[in-house]
Amino acid sequence: MSALHSLQTAAVSIRSVRKVYGDPASGPVALKCVDLDIRDNEFFTLLGPSGCGKTTLLRMIAGFEFPTSGEIRLYGENIADRPPFERPVNTVFQHYALFPHMSIAENLAFGLESHPMGKRMGRAEVAERVREMLALVQMERFAQRKPTQLSGGQQQRVALARALAPHPKVLLLDEPLSALDLKLRQAMREELKAIQAKTGITFIFVTHDQEEALTMSDRIAVLSEGEVQQVGRPDEIYERPRNRFVADFIGETNFLPARVEHFIDERAHYRIAGDQLIEAGIREGLEVGAEVTLSIRPERLQLVAEDTPSAVPCSIVAQIYLGTDLQYQVALRDGGKLTVRAPNSAGQRQRLVAGQRAGLLFEKGSASVLV
Ligand code: ATP
Repeated sequence: MSALHSLQTAAVSIRSVRKVYGDPASGPVALKCVDLDIRDNEFFTLLGPSGCGKTTLLRMIAGFEFPTSGEIRLYGENIADRPPFERPVNTVFQHYALFPHMSIAENLAFGLESHPMGKRMGRAEVAERVREMLALVQMERFAQRKPTQLSGGQQQRVALARALAPHPKVLLLDEPLSALDLKLRQAMREELKAIQAKTGITFIFVTHDQEEALTMSDRIAVLSEGEVQQVGRPDEIYERPRNRFVADFIGETNFLPARVEHFIDERAHYRIAGDQLIEAGIREGLEVGAEVTLSIRPERLQLVAEDTPSAVPCSIVAQIYLGTDLQYQVALRDGGKLTVRAPNSAGQRQRLVAGQRAGLLFEKGSASVLV
């Protein structure tokens, strides 16, 4: 795909966007220089810790904040001069703010009638759209209830229906599930994903919850301190983290000091503790002998008998019971410590206990070299 083509088809394209609150010379820098292309029909997630700039970016797409410099385009159009209500965008907030004195149906109708698109609709058309949206979120039965007569999850569904009613091209969701309890949050993830697929609307979802991001998104942008660290599909982000921040923020990982031994086409052998060689991808600019850090996930390591050929000798420091899995802290001969995760089984639980010596195998191709 040519650069021009990808530019034309981006639902939202963010170019060199910088945001400083207050005085541009001395105010707090929320975003340093962000470039992102969010595709049409995509479930795109902005993921990062508190304060990394996720909400700021979302509010600029919505038109509640303005970039200090840089440009935001929606379907190719520079939207700098368009006020929020004239943008083909709507937002679902964490606190859904439904009007308590209105029924659910009235809340939706009121939201639609206050929107420029709804203003062009007749009463019957508004009523029809309200019915359609309540059906989409499976809340038709509750149309005449007041918001206080609904559970948190039901209220969040109504808020979603209200935001979708004017048919925005892009729906912004700012931590919409964080007020819900765990079980409900998990159920709502599937529903949100299904609604996005059904409507084909581009969703831009903000969260600091990596599991939420991994399970729902087509692609994720990981942010830290106002900068995009990596953009990719969930499996790319998890399996091939670019740098230490991403590897550490998404799931658990082990950092292994290593040295480039030799190259094999697009990959390399790295020498790690215990004089072991492991294979991983390469990064631009690497040379033989370079000192690097590899990231390897705990579930990609396997504990085996001490005398297993090519296993790195280690000893078990602790076995931690996690229910579905067992987690081990192991020590290498050179003093390095690693975390290993294995499916829980009675055999493994009894065989591999603290104090015991064992061998460690690295699953082929599972380590990532970090920049
Ligand atoms: P959270 O997950 O806690 O909501 P976030 O990733 O959404 O965090 P932002 O709310 O975008 O982060 O904030 C980014 C940075 O900008 C933070 O350092 C924050 O303190 C600062 N900031 C946000 N809003 C303002 C404001 N109105 N005035 C000054 N600084 C602000």
